[in-house]
Amino acid sequence: MICISKLDKVYKSKKRKTCKALDDVNLILPDGGLVFVLGKSGSGKSTLLNLIGGLDNITSGSIIVDGNDISSFKENEYCNYRNNHIGFIFQDYHLIDELTVYENICLSLNLKKQDDKEKVLLALEKVDLKGYENRFPLELSGGERQRVAIARALIKEPEVIIADEPTGALDSAMEKRVMDLLKEVNRELGTTIVQVTHSQTVAEYGNRIIYLKDGNIIWSCF
Ligand code: ADP
Ligand code: MG
Repeated sequence: MICISKLDKVYKSKKRKTCKALDDVNLILPDGGLVFVLGKSGSGKSTLLNLIGGLDNITSGSIIVDGNDISSFKENEYCNYRNNHIGFIFQDYHLIDELTVYENICLSLNLKKQDDKEKVLLALEKVDLKGYENRFPLELSGGERQRVAIARALIKEPEVIIADEPTGALDSAMEKRVMDLLKEVNRELGTTIVQVTHSQTVAEYGNRIIYLKDGNIIWSCF
């Protein structure tokens, strides 16, 4: 369970004025949930996901994941949390173009200090890309690249997957395929998925929807 309370995030920079991206966010995400985060551009969606994923530091408040308050983590605890407990999926895939599909997926295992060829091939099968291991990202369509990114996240067997607009760069057929795949992962593996989306079809997929505006949750439904 992820328990978020009184969460604030303020971005400070010398050049620009201070920006309060999250303002007193309170939220409980049960294990195994498929949660959609909606809201206009600039409403704080990516900030919320980045904080849950341990990619940025919390200004105030707490995020308690399975009893541990990540705001009190030291740098090595943050690394361990990111490497072993969270899978990340981004709109622009974050694949390394110079590495093959196989090597890209292996990066996740290297973080866990594992090396398991069979596991990589199984992950590729799971995302319907059997036989694609020696291709390079630039030889794949957008939807295929995103499925590689999903395989790279899955191989870590994370408790939580953070997906920030994973279908934002895809056409509607590819979008459906990726949405269906994430739903299947959620249902079959019990992975908690927190997903930012602009898709109109979220209601048929998710079991919780959160709507952010100006850093606040203005409504949520189950
Ligand atoms: P969304 O993902 O909903 O579009 P973000 O979480 O990216 O929104 O941004 C929320 C607010 O925080 C915006 O006003 C944005 O300009 C600001 N912001 C995001 N990241 C930074 C940053 N690194 N430095 C300064 N301001 C930022
Ligand atoms: Mg964003």
